[in-house]
Amino acid sequence: MAAPASTVPVVSVHHYTDRLFKFRVKRPKNFRFESGQFAMIGLNIEDEPIMRAYSMASPSWDDELEFYSIIVPDGPLTSQLRYIKPEDPLLISGRGVGSLTMKALKPGKRLFMLATGTGIAPFASIMRDPETYERFDEVYLTHTCREAAELSYGKELVAALREDPLCGEFANKLTYYSSVTREEYEHMGRITDLLESGQVFSDLGIAPFDAEGDRVMICGSMELNRDLQKILEAQGFVEGSRRQKGSYVLERAFVG
Ligand SMILES: Cc1cc2nc3c(=O)[nH]c(=O)nc-3n(C[C@H](O)[C@H](O)[C@H](O)COP(=O)(O)OP(=O)(O)OC[C@H]3O[C@@H](n4cnc5c(N)ncnc54)[C@H](O)[C@@H]3O)c2cc1C
Repeated sequence: MAAPASTVPVVSVHHYTDRLFKFRVKRPKNFRFESGQFAMIGLNIEDEPIMRAYSMASPSWDDELEFYSIIVPDGPLTSQLRYIKPEDPLLISGRGVGSLTMKALKPGKRLFMLATGTGIAPFASIMRDPETYERFDEVYLTHTCREAAELSYGKELVAALREDPLCGEFANKLTYYSSVTREEYEHMGRITDLLESGQVFSDLGIAPFDAEGDRVMICGSMELNRDLQKILEAQGFVEGSRRQKGSYVLERAFVG
């Protein structure tokens, strides 16, 4: 049976573009999750709870919960969620679920987190969790969006890592790589193409994927996940789950 939803106050809201914003809420005392997981959150709209899956973008040790959201103009939830402000009530149910976590991955040397769009949210959590850097020598975050302005949240996170109370000392283990598909930018193109051509690896000056020591986490559209899955499995990567650890894991960023 689904646990009843708690109501928590919004603490802060920041809009990045007309389609993207982040917000922070107080964490319910009994809310448990592992960095990388998602939960159901929502609003009471015309006396009906409208709930949607959202990845927690804050790490599991944080007293507040952070979320990073799309605005779908006619979306039942986000057409209203876009107007939230501090002190407004947010509904949050149960606890964290999903296998985009360290627990589903075998030990490895390099961790690659591959995100498109709001798919960066679970990695915003994982990159701010010290366990990530204790388990991996090198951590890579790639983020691909249509336009450069949509990269702002990720860039801000990476820049702030040095000042992070728990992860600041590990900031030099994280390498960030961004690409844009619909306008001029330093790195252009879909991450699938940039990985297959070897461009990402040569741009970063690192060795290509190696299923022995590399672990990969993916969060994007269904199509992206499927394409990346093909690329990885052709190279010997095996999908992990909480029951059976593997060399890669994935989560859908939304239901398209
Ligand atoms: C496991 C999981 C985790 C998720 N985590 C997040 C998250 O951290 N942040 C977030 O913004 N959304 C996330 N979503 C999507 C979220 O659940 C909602 O779909 C989204 O908030 C829009 O809600 P809505 O009611 O306004 O529109 P909906 O009716 O839910 O969606 C309408 C349409 O908008 C498109 N859409 C929905 N969400 C997105 C998105 N994030 N990016 C691009 N297109 C989208 C899809 O085509 C969808 O069919 C997640 C979904 C899943 C399954």
